[in-house]
Amino acid sequence: MKTFSIAIHGGAGTLVKGMMTPELETQYKSALKEALDAGYKILKDGKTAVEAVEMAVRLLEDSHLFNAGKGSVFTAEGTHEMDAAIMDGKTLNAGAVSLITGIKNPVSLCKDVMEKSEHVFLAGNGAMQFAKELNYKIEDASYFYDELRYNQWLEIRDTDSFQLDHSVKKDSKFGTVGAVACDQNGDIAAATSTGGMTNKKWGRVGDSPMIGAGNYANNKTCAVSCTGSGEFFIRGVVAYDVSCLMEYKDMTLIDAADEVINKRILEINGDGGLIAVDAKGNIVMPFNTEGMYRGCKSSNGIEEISIYK
Ligand code: ASP
Repeated sequence: MKTFSIAIHGGAGTLVKGMMTPELETQYKSALKEALDAGYKILKDGKTAVEAVEMAVRLLEDSHLFNAGKGSVFTAEGTHEMDAAIMDGKTLNAGAVSLITGIKNPVSLCKDVMEKSEHVFLAGNGAMQFAKELNYKIEDASYFYDELRYNQWLEIRDTDSFQLDHSVKKDSKFGTVGAVACDQNGDIAAATSTGGMTNKKWGRVGDSPMIGAGNYANNKTCAVSCTGSGEFFIRGVVAYDVSCLMEYKDMTLIDAADEVINKRILEINGDGGLIAVDAKGNIVMPFNTEGMYRGCKSSNGIEEISIYK
């Protein structure tokens, strides 16, 4: 049997070390473990990488700890606008949504865009219309309310500033979420989901739903899910850049990911990290921030859940 593996992240925007309490650390780690184990079980049962990343991301979206689904940050209007993407490395099929509200699990809507529409990327009202036609339940705003995120927004809502959720300022407890997996057939997939940035406006969309920027999968190279300063990850076309270094320069997964996160993205002032797998089940989780909520598990015995370096 081929090696199968999964990696997940809960964002490169961790609490600065001094502010993390043992209780909170336990909460984060157990939320990560739950998502990791659920995704791993799907792979172990012989199901697909796409199913595994969807499951892992759904569970992270259901946790208020991370900036995706339930824990999404507040926009300048005091609402929640979520972005997400999923990609199947076997077929290069992909589905993405942006600027959606009220959807409990944006990653599943992405999977439906991929499998039930002729399109790749649906945004705003149109994406919501698509969800309604598929009978998605629209959650009340109270489902997405989180006191800490609300207070964070109150602090900056009357200013022009917006806060990247990877920020090491103050008590940033944020985190876009993502998963990458390699199944027993050697097929790989990636999924990413986020609430974006606190106090964002003008329909701001980050890298997370953009195929090639925050999310990408191709059996020939790798499956990647990113987290970090979206504006820079878009300009760096980060996820696809890792894939290109492997495809065109014959680099290994570890070297390609390291080159992008510890060199190229830093050169344009971007910060953050990524998780990636290749079709042999190798896993990498580089980041250039103080920490990144992350975890990985592989049929060859690797298992890790970590926050800081
Ligand atoms: N990349 C996300 C965005 O810019 C934020 C994050 O990764 O936490 O929307």
